[in-house]
Amino acid sequence: MLRSIVHSVSLAFVSGVVLSAQTATHEARAKEIFKQLVEINTTHSVGDTTKAAEAMAARFKAAGFADADVRVLGPSAKRGNLVVRYRGTGAKRPMILMAHLDVVEARREDWSFDPFVLTEKDGYFYGRGVGDDKAQAAIWIANLIRYKREGYKPDRDIIVALTADEEGGGPYNGAQWLLKNKRELIDAELCLNEGGWGEALGDTRLSNDVQVSEKYVINYRLEVHNKGGHSSLPVADNAIYHLAGALDRMSRFGFPLKTNDVTKAYFRAMSKIEKGAISADLAKVADGDTAAMTRVARASTAWNATLRTTCVATLLEGGHAKNALPQLAAANVNCRVLPEDRVDYVTSALKQVFADSAVTVTVEGTPQGGAPSPMRDDLMTAVTDLTNALWPGVPAVPMMVMGGTDGMYLRPAGIPTYGVQGIFYDRDDIRFHGRDERVKVQSFYQGQTFLYELVKRLSGGPIA
Ligand SMILES: [Zn+2]
Repeated sequence: MLRSIVHSVSLAFVSGVVLSAQTATHEARAKEIFKQLVEINTTHSVGDTTKAAEAMAARFKAAGFADADVRVLGPSAKRGNLVVRYRGTGAKRPMILMAHLDVVEARREDWSFDPFVLTEKDGYFYGRGVGDDKAQAAIWIANLIRYKREGYKPDRDIIVALTADEEGGGPYNGAQWLLKNKRELIDAELCLNEGGWGEALGDTRLSNDVQVSEKYVINYRLEVHNKGGHSSLPVADNAIYHLAGALDRMSRFGFPLKTNDVTKAYFRAMSKIEKGAISADLAKVADGDTAAMTRVARASTAWNATLRTTCVATLLEGGHAKNALPQLAAANVNCRVLPEDRVDYVTSALKQVFADSAVTVTVEGTPQGGAPSPMRDDLMTAVTDLTNALWPGVPAVPMMVMGGTDGMYLRPAGIPTYGVQGIFYDRDDIRFHGRDERVKVQSFYQGQTFLYELVKRLSGGPIA
């Protein structure tokens, strides 16, 4: 569970680790790797994760890693994953440091900068993937090379796994592919991954979140078919109108607000962090008060998404000519589902909301949710201590993340996965998947230091 320990060595930690000249070298290397990763396009459309994996493999080999411990592998030419093993004494089972190499599409015309050039401006790094997930990928690489240079001997193997196709588009999610085809390369006792970050409000750091649970994803294909006809003879039975009506009804619908064990712990912790009237409401949310949940959900998009399953229209198609009645109208509805809500429940709730038998609703693929990871004492203690040392007074908070990560494959496969980064983002300005994605320069480097120490703590290293 959560603790609040003011670590006695915090000053030594800050002066000894954060401010040393050596740190500057490690930061420069991390930035160089970060830049290289951002500037290799790894989108689904034209990108190539193999290229990124090979560029990083070359760095590991140049740093003295054995060829056999640096593997680039995957299901197809442009969907490579990188798996690197840093050998420990073997006293404990390995741990994985995971990040995904692929990024969401980004169009130059939508952005203020070229999304595939790392731009540093006004204290931020801009570029596609700077937050999701190339900062963490760059940090894992830079830190592993640093351990090697320092001759660090962990008590377990440390595996860096940088994967393809986390963002979808398929056909092979890298983590899933590795579990299925190369399990021996990534078999581990635990995994650190994306999905938990530091929450800030402007410049004020609120909490360092540890993701132990996550929502899962269901994509629905909605279709309306119609015989069509000439547009000069319109009728009420129109495919586009059927679809638009169903989507409009969905836009005004909300799934029930509720909590589970992890989100209760999260809201309890947040009630101690937040100031003003909302603080009392957050405590009431942790106690199950539904009126307070309504107010809290209204106060923040992120809290709304923490309190309920959400569904939103994301893609639309329809019609075949300007002067023809549409024969097809279709949409994708993307749902982010609480772990305790079943697929059948979500499907039937949506069908009731659509309330139109002309709209067919199909679940894409086989959605999968997983039970939360156990709250490991070693992990929660290490995160709490390091958070206190780096950012005194900021609590470490267990949480359920709204978006899906590769944790959804690893947890059911028996590898407890924790999203933790120590990289802080403004809670009200999260730009993952959006335009002008950015991360604070200072947050990037502090995340590097935090993760360097965290991995050491979890692999028998000396306490800084
Ligand atoms: Zn991601």
